[in-house]
Amino acid sequence: MRPRLPSPLRELSDPRLTARDLRLWLKRDDLIHPEVPGNKWRKLKYNLVAAREQGQRTLLTFGGAYSNHLRATAAAGHALGLATVGVVRGEELADRPLNPSLAFAVERGMRLVFVDRATYRAKHTAPVLDALLAAHGPAYVLPEGGSNEAAVRGCAELPAELDDETGDEPGDGFDVVCVAVGTGGTLAGLAAGLSPGRRALGFAALRGDFLTAEVADLQRRTYGAPTDNWHVATDFHHGGYARRSPELDTFLADFAHRHDFAPEPIYVGKMLFGLFALAERGTFAPGTRLVAVITG
Ligand SMILES: *Cc1c(COP(=O)(O)O)cnc(C)c1O
Repeated sequence: MRPRLPSPLRELSDPRLTARDLRLWLKRDDLIHPEVPGNKWRKLKYNLVAAREQGQRTLLTFGGAYSNHLRATAAAGHALGLATVGVVRGEELADRPLNPSLAFAVERGMRLVFVDRATYRAKHTAPVLDALLAAHGPAYVLPEGGSNEAAVRGCAELPAELDDETGDEPGDGFDVVCVAVGTGGTLAGLAAGLSPGRRALGFAALRGDFLTAEVADLQRRTYGAPTDNWHVATDFHHGGYARRSPELDTFLADFAHRHDFAPEPIYVGKMLFGLFALAERGTFAPGTRLVAVITG
């Protein structure tokens, strides 16, 4: 399971940014590994180390029917000879043909356990977790989306890969790093790994304001206190998780045409939409150097 690290970084040339004296680099984490891409590789890294240290032979985790985290966990377990169990939200899915995400997870050896929504909501409580471990364990348990302290530490390694490449002189690098937010583990780590004076900007792919508290809590659990160098933009979700809008579709089609690169729409597309919208509103001062993390 050899990753491509550091992942490639390339500058994007776009007249909408040049007009405002902004520069933008794409951090291509989607190219880290074909089956464990993007932030999923970074989030699994120290969890897999911990699982091995604890002598666990099984990984047990949680996700929705289209979870990239379930796919990545199945692939990582397969590559490392660990059994994997995926607890999936939605009892009714058990009777339906598997969608491509779940079919891939099963192909990589993951055992799927479908649970109803109430059970899924209670997944991190002792009664539910104990019952799952009694039936399918013992196992190393990864939370939904893989976001825990070990995942945050893995994502905190990203900023060190950016420095030499985004500036002409040492120490003359980027100013703001942008990333999509699902459960918040990636943003929590990214922000914690930044050197002083730099900022991280998250774009929520889901509706709601809970993600700011989530990111702060992940930083508190990992480092003892949250950092004050990040922000979550909550108005670019386009209707909620996996929802789209005509504006988003138009932006993405245009982006693919201009740059010969079609971003993943559920997370990355919304982040890029938000970044360009903020740029056009004049949110970033002229001269700002931006990095957009292509998480998948
Ligand atoms: C899982 C995922 C995210 C969300 O990451 P979090 O750490 O849960 O916030 C973002 N982008 C892509 C492509 C993903 O698969």
